[in-house]
Amino acid sequence: MSFMHYLTGLSREKLTLKLYSCTEQDVERALQNPQGSLDSLLALLSPAAEPYLEQMAQASGYITRQRFGANIGMYLPLYLSNLCANECDYCGFSMSHRIKRKTLNIDELTAEMSVIKSMGYDSILLVSGEHETKVGIDYFSSVLPSVKAHFSYVAMEVQPLQEVEYSKLVGLGLDAVMIYQETYNPQTYAKHHTRGNKQDFEYRLTTPERIARSGVDKIGLGVLFGLDDWRLDALLLGHHLGYLESHFWRTRYSVSLPRLRPCTGGITPKVELSDKGLVQLICAFRLFNHQVEISLSTREPAGLRDHLFGLGITQLSAGSSTQPGGYLKPNTQLDQFEISDDRSPLEVCAAMRAKGFNPVWKDWESAWI
Ligand code: SF4
Repeated sequence: MSFMHYLTGLSREKLTLKLYSCTEQDVERALQNPQGSLDSLLALLSPAAEPYLEQMAQASGYITRQRFGANIGMYLPLYLSNLCANECDYCGFSMSHRIKRKTLNIDELTAEMSVIKSMGYDSILLVSGEHETKVGIDYFSSVLPSVKAHFSYVAMEVQPLQEVEYSKLVGLGLDAVMIYQETYNPQTYAKHHTRGNKQDFEYRLTTPERIARSGVDKIGLGVLFGLDDWRLDALLLGHHLGYLESHFWRTRYSVSLPRLRPCTGGITPKVELSDKGLVQLICAFRLFNHQVEISLSTREPAGLRDHLFGLGITQLSAGSSTQPGGYLKPNTQLDQFEISDDRSPLEVCAAMRAKGFNPVWKDWESAWI
């Protein structure tokens, strides 16, 4: 049974009712036994858990330290291209936006990698818009060996691919794939994705299964919070994570919890996830799953990011650019979305150390396994 069948078998109405009718007793029970329990995750994401935020934060921080120490992995996105054949109304790369389009050639990519290496990074996230014909498997296959020669850990966040294509990229050095469902509500999904292959909700939803079968080391899941009810989307993300872990236990997992940011022609959030809500979300996930990596991007403002270090976050980017070629030659006309925390990696690492955390630039070497 694929996760599509699993999801279809869940009643959104019943889950919503349960989320909004949770009691203090449900939350207290969940705090006693949060690990691996979807019922506990539901209670911890509910409005009834809000008065327990301090208790959740302390438990989440403790578990994170036990499992990951005081270490936070540093990674950086490298945008390969802003070409896109989809229309997503929250994204600056949507095909109808009249922005300058660019795909890095091998010389431009090498120049970007040199700048990123000089910042200290050894873990890279390759990002592109979704353009099957111009930035597809042939392009990825041609650039990956060169990227792998520069970085120990290589992740990708591009369009969903076929299993055989993922296998090919794993053979060329790919370590991780990030694939965000954006929302688990099919109706809301259809409303925000109006043109292109990304309209296919089921194909996207089953992508992590194809990735896992290809033998990739790590899969990153995520939701774009703001498109729909964040509590229900987060709960279904937990269901997805639990499903994948039970079916593909050799794979490692990470989750990203991005909030909608302003972009060219973008929309405002339908359901705002407040800072307090984001804290609740991070803590609920950490209590539910002690092993999962939780990453935080520069979408969030500096002050908030500094407070979130100790709560459950294990991966962080700093000094990011969301445009192809943006590390060497910044050009805001090519941006995917606005960055909130624009501090340099050195400044972010100093803030991290001041709070007793260690930035980790390298924790992976394929030859070790
Ligand atoms: S979210 Fe992805 S698929 Fe949608 S427009 Fe942006 S780059 Fe393209």
